[in-house]
Amino acid sequence: MFILGAGLTGLSAAYHLQGSRFVLVERSKVVGGKARSHRQAGHTFDVTGHWLHLRDDRVQTLVQDLFSGGDLVSVRRKTNVWSHGALLRYPFQANLYGLPPAVVQECLAGFFEAQVAAATTTAQTPRTFEDFARARFGAGISEHFFVPYNTKLWGMHPDKLTAEWVSRYIPVPNASQVIGGAVGVPQEGLGYNVEFQYPKAGGIDHLPEKLGAAVKSREHGECVFGSDVEEIDVKGRRIKISAAPDWQPWSRVVSTIPLPELIKRIKDPPPQIREAAAALRWVKWRYLDVATRTTPAADYHWVYVPERRYPFFRVGVYSNAVESMAPKGRGSLYVELEDRDNAPDQAQVAQALAEMGTIAGAEDVDFMKLRDIEYAYVVFDDAWKDCRATLLEWLMSKGIHSCGRYGAWVYNSMEDSMIQGMEAAAWATMDAVKGATS
Ligand SMILES: Cc1cc2nc3c(=O)[nH]c(=O)nc-3n(C[C@H](O)[C@H](O)[C@H](O)COP(=O)(O)OP(=O)(O)OC[C@H]3O[C@@H](n4cnc5c(N)ncnc54)[C@H](O)[C@@H]3O)c2cc1C
Repeated sequence: MFILGAGLTGLSAAYHLQGSRFVLVERSKVVGGKARSHRQAGHTFDVTGHWLHLRDDRVQTLVQDLFSGGDLVSVRRKTNVWSHGALLRYPFQANLYGLPPAVVQECLAGFFEAQVAAATTTAQTPRTFEDFARARFGAGISEHFFVPYNTKLWGMHPDKLTAEWVSRYIPVPNASQVIGGAVGVPQEGLGYNVEFQYPKAGGIDHLPEKLGAAVKSREHGECVFGSDVEEIDVKGRRIKISAAPDWQPWSRVVSTIPLPELIKRIKDPPPQIREAAAALRWVKWRYLDVATRTTPAADYHWVYVPERRYPFFRVGVYSNAVESMAPKGRGSLYVELEDRDNAPDQAQVAQALAEMGTIAGAEDVDFMKLRDIEYAYVVFDDAWKDCRATLLEWLMSKGIHSCGRYGAWVYNSMEDSMIQGMEAAAWATMDAVKGATS
C-alpha cells in the first residue's frame, strides 16, 4: 500500500501498520508536515504554537514510548486576551474583569438577554458561527471578541462560516462563571487545553522525528522523501511519483495530502468530483518568527488580540512555555498576522508588541522572519459538509482513504491526526484481510 505524506497522520499510519508492506511518499526532505520546527541563531520556532494536548490513552502511550527518557515537559497553560488596553484572563467570555465598566455592562446585558431568549423561544441550532456566538454569549461578547477575533483569524466575517467546528473548542461558561469573571473572580481551567506536553529539548519536530525514526527502521516499509505524488490512476490502481518515472501498482492508498491536491492528481475524475473539489475553501496563514534580545516582558504563553487596530490576532511566546526554545536571557515568539497577502510593516509589529507589554521595547527585537502556511485552516462554509462527504466516499469506493487534518478536510489537533493515522492503519489491515479471504 502507499501512504502519501509524512506529517503526523501519515507517520502514525505507517507506524501502526504492523507488518503490512508500505511505501511512504513525502514531498519534503524531512518528516513532520505542520509539526516541524525552524531554528535560527539558537532560537527555535514551530509553525506557530504547536502544543501537545493529550487526552486519548492510545496516543499518551505512544508518545510516552517515543519519549521514554522523560524528555517531555508538562506545562500549565498561561493564556490571556488583550482588549481595550487591558490584559484579561482567558477566555474572554468568562473573564470580563479589567474591561472598561461600560463594556462589561454591555457584555453582561447581552449575555443575559441571550440566556432569556434561549429559555423562552424555541431554540434553533445556530447556522453560522456568528449566530452561535450571539446565541450563546450575546451581542456584547460577540462584538467585542468573537466577531473581530474570528474575522482576523479566518480572513472573513464569521457569518460566512457554519458553526460546525466550534463545539469542542469554544468554552461555554455558565451564568455564575460569567458573573464571577466580570467582578474579578478568576475563571480558570475552562476549555480543552488547560495543560499541554512539549519536548523538553525544544521544537515540536522532536515528535515526528522520533515517530519517523521508528517508521524508517521498519523492514516492511520504504520511505521516499523529496518526492511529489504526480498522478493517481484509480481505474488501473497505479500511481506515479516524481522520484520514480514508471507507474507503480497499489492495492490501497492512505492519503494525508490536502484533499484538493489529491483530487488534482487523480487521472480523469468524474465531473461531480471535480465540482465538489472546486467548492472546497481554505485559508492561508502568514506569520512571523520573532527573536528578542532579552526575556519577553509578558509571562503568558499566548495572547488573543481581537481589536482591528493591531495587525495580528494572536501572539505566542514559545520560550515562556519551554525555556530551551531560546538562548538564555532571550525570547522566541510567533505573531499570527491578519493580512496574508502583503508583507507586514515589521517596525509597526514591534511597536504594537511593545505597546501591549509583550516585549520590553520595539528595539528589543533582534530579528523577524516572515513565513506562510498555504493550507492552514479548512473553511467551514455551507458547501463544506456535502462536498467533503462526496469526495471522501468516492475516494473510499476506489480504495483511497483520505485522512488527517487536510486529507479528511477538518479542524483537528496533532493528537487527532495520530488517531486518524491509527485508524487508517486498521482500515488498511482489515481491508487486506478481507481481500485475502474473498
Ligand atoms: C497554525 C496551526 C497551529 C496549530 N497548532 C496546534 C497545536 O497547538 N496543537 C495541536 O495539537 N495541533 C495544532 N495544529 C494542528 C496540527 O498541525 C495538525 O493536526 C497536524 O500536524 C496535521 O498533520 P497531518 O499529517 O494530517 O498534515 P500535515 O502536517 O499537513 O502533513 C501532510 C504531509 O503531506 C505532505 N504533502 C503535501 N502534498 C504532497 C504531495 N503532493 N506529495 C507528497 N507529499 C505531500 C506535506 O509535505 C506534509 O508533510 C495546528 C495547525 C496549524 C495550521
